Amino acid sequence: MKAAVFKGPGQPLEITEVGIPRPGYGEALVKVKACGVCATDLHYLHGTPTFKKPPLILGHEISGVVEEVGEGVEGVGAGDVVIVPPVISCGACSRCREGRDNICENMKMVGNHIDGGFAEYLTVPAKILVKLPQNLPVHDSAIISDAVSTPFHAVRNRGRVMGGEWVAVFGCGGVGIHAVQSAAAFGASVIAVDIDDRKLRLARELGAVETVNASEVDVVKTVQRMTSGGVDAAFEIIGKPATLEQAFSVVRPGGRLVVVGYSAENWSLRASRVMFREISVLGSLGCRLAEYPTIVKMVASGRLKLAPTISDRLSFDEVNDALKRLEEGKVVGRQIVVVS
Ligand SMILES: [Zn+2]
Ligand SMILES: [Zn+2]
Repeated sequence: MKAAVFKGPGQPLEITEVGIPRPGYGEALVKVKACGVCATDLHYLHGTPTFKKPPLILGHEISGVVEEVGEGVEGVGAGDVVIVPPVISCGACSRCREGRDNICENMKMVGNHIDGGFAEYLTVPAKILVKLPQNLPVHDSAIISDAVSTPFHAVRNRGRVMGGEWVAVFGCGGVGIHAVQSAAAFGASVIAVDIDDRKLRLARELGAVETVNASEVDVVKTVQRMTSGGVDAAFEIIGKPATLEQAFSVVRPGGRLVVVGYSAENWSLRASRVMFREISVLGSLGCRLAEYPTIVKMVASGRLKLAPTISDRLSFDEVNDALKRLEEGKVVGRQIVVVS
């Protein structure tokens, strides 16, 4: 089969022929239809170590069709149209047992611990697969597995966003745009913050009531003025200390800051503000498996839209171009690689 293989940091993925994997006990062989291109893939190219040493097939935002299942698999079979969530949880640790499988103590990630979706086939534990209804477009649905689900979990489960609240979303890229959509779908008034007017226009089309270009105005003052004193919840989806500071500063007393963006850097925050104003600072990682059916329903009913957020549907051979465009900040929305 064709695969785009990661050989090490700084090198383009090598498009080459490798053997088709065989499904082991409890596993499914999935024929990949499409795979989204995520900033996490870029982090590996930039040197963040992967758990499985290269050669490794990257890609963790996958839709496909089950080709074959191994022994011991129930509830999913050949021909099922599925998405592959990025995280494989153990089901047995304390976190899994309390229903927080997204922070499983033994978690493995597709396209990191095991080979991922920039390939014609992959094998994964069948228990993680999420079946799609027939009315969803199979290629575009790839982004549900990460770009849609990660901010959905942040907005609903961590941020507990409710109708009528003010919400600020910092960073309206492939993930942030879905935080805008999710918060708007739950009835919040969303302020989209970015430095790219094209991303802000898309955010407005998808439910933001206000937009702020952070390169043009003082974000904190502007958001404070718009909301007469701060937002109920702010979501930081960039992963930079400077934007974390801004997001923290626009939260009203008693409000929530949800950290979704990844940063390896330290960030210092004013402890007195957290204490005196009872600000909740919450981390958010990926999505619990239990939340996927709700997301799929909201996509199927049109409450969450996929197509307008997909910037490009690329061929397999364009995967390195896609990564380069993402790196250069040229992408508005999410790129998907159409594999078959
Ligand atoms: Zn990702
Ligand atoms: Zn676990």
